Amino acid sequence: MKCSYCGKEIKSGHGIIFAKDTKQVLYFCSKKCRINSQYRKPQKTKWTEKAREMREERKRLIKKVDTDNMKKE
Ligand SMILES: [Zn+2]
Repeated sequence: MKCSYCGKEIKSGHGIIFAKDTKQVLYFCSKKCRINSQYRKPQKTKWTEKAREMREERKRLIKKVDTDNMKKE
């Protein structure tokens, strides 16, 4: 099972299960993730898996633009 916020693997017997009003069930590896999820988007929090994915995606896009520009020149 993975943490809904940071994307880390949660060992069985660890972590927090959090049920929202919308019947959505979230799994958190720690209190830190649970609290952060209430106030901050995972995409905007540096240490989460989602933020890392976004950073890498952005890097790929920048690289792609660079190579496209080089072809035109
Ligand atoms: Zn977590």
